[in-house]
This record gives sequence, C-alpha cells and structure tokens, in this order.
Amino acid sequence: MAEEPVKIFIVEDERRIARFLQMELEHEGFLTATEENGHRAYERILQEQYDLVLLDVMLPEMDGWEICRSVRKLSDVPIIMLTAKDDVEDKVNGLDLGADDYLTKPFAIQELLARIRAALRKHTLPADSSAGEMLVVKDLVMYPSRYEVRVQDTRVDLTKKEYLLLECLLRNKRTVLTRDQILQKVWGYDYAGDTNVVDVYIRYLRAKIDDRFQQKYIFTMRGVGYVIKD
Ligand code: CA
Repeated sequence: MAEEPVKIFIVEDERRIARFLQMELEHEGFLTATEENGHRAYERILQEQYDLVLLDVMLPEMDGWEICRSVRKLSDVPIIMLTAKDDVEDKVNGLDLGADDYLTKPFAIQELLARIRAALRKHTLPADSSAGEMLVVKDLVMYPSRYEVRVQDTRVDLTKKEYLLLECLLRNKRTVLTRDQILQKVWGYDYAGDTNVVDVYIRYLRAKIDDRFQQKYIFTMRGVGYVIKD
C-alpha cells in the first residue's frame, strides 16, 4: 500500500536550524517546505496543505503564539511549537493556544521525530487504534507508539536516552552510524560534550539487551561507529 508522503512545514527564521531540520526530515522520508517570515507562514498554513507544522516562537512580523492562535480558529493541522525559552509558563501558554506539542531548543532530532510521529498518529488514526508501527531486529521489537521494547517477548525497561539511541539504530538498521551522527540525532545539534557518551550508552544498551538475552544485536565497526542488524 503506497502511502502519500507526509508534508511538514518548517517555520523558522534561523536558517541554520531550518536547514538542519529540512535535511533530517527529508532523510526520514518527509516532504518539507520552509518559511522564515511569520505573517507569510500564517497565510501559507491556511492556503497550502500541510500534514504538520513545526512552528518557531520568535519570528519576524507575527510570532508563533499569534500564528498558532489564529490558525486554530480555522484549521486543526497538527502544530509542534519550537522555542528557545525553557519556561514552563510558555509551555502552558502554547498548549492553551491549541498547539499539539511543545519542544524546547536545543532538542535532539530523535526526540522531535518521536513527537512528530505521535502528533501525526493522533490526527490520522482513530482513538482506539493502538497497534501502530513496529521496528524489528531478530527477536527484538520496538513499538514506538507505546515507547515499548520487547526482546524474546520480555519487556525491557530503558531510560529515555537508551530508548532514543535504540530507536535511532533501528531506524537506520544495517547502516553504520558514526558517533557524531548518533550524537547529533540523539543528544542534539548543540550538544557540547564529547563522543564518549555514545560508547557509554551503547554499553548500557548492550547490558540490557545483548548480554541479558545472550544474543548479539549491536555491532561495533572499529574506528567507524555502530550498527544494529539481523
Ligand atoms: Ca526565531
């Protein structure tokens, strides 16, 4: 069954971030369009058919809150607000205005992708549909709609970072990812620590999965990075 590609509208006036989002989302198979002016963004949301809007808050001419409030009067397109401020007040404000979700910059791309999928599911699936997508390698299954991982039909408890790291490997199954790629996708584009953190979390994951179930899932490509494969 061929599905229509999902069209995401990126409203962001910082070109570096807009470009980064566009690249990552297109890599995931989404179609994208971008806009840096608030007022034009508002008009385009109403005129063009998008499946989801990523909406920055501080924008020229019309800010994200205003856009969200105005769009909501006319459309129920999923909106995820992106803001530089990590103020709880802002979050409440954003959700009050009808945003579906809210993410504080800097965020990790895997976190954003998880929120995008959740928002799209909420809008496209009936409320009682819980089956959703499965990511599989050998006898390991991840159910992104439930944040659940099972190995040999046993539920595995993972921390949020462990989960996002595993999801990142699964979505790139059989593709070797460098530590830098993993770092950017799971820890975020502004992460300033060193890449050893990737090795540390790979060890945590291996202890909970490979070691516990005595089967090799995560492979090290010496001098390159990591890959998950059958
Ligand atoms: Ca901005």
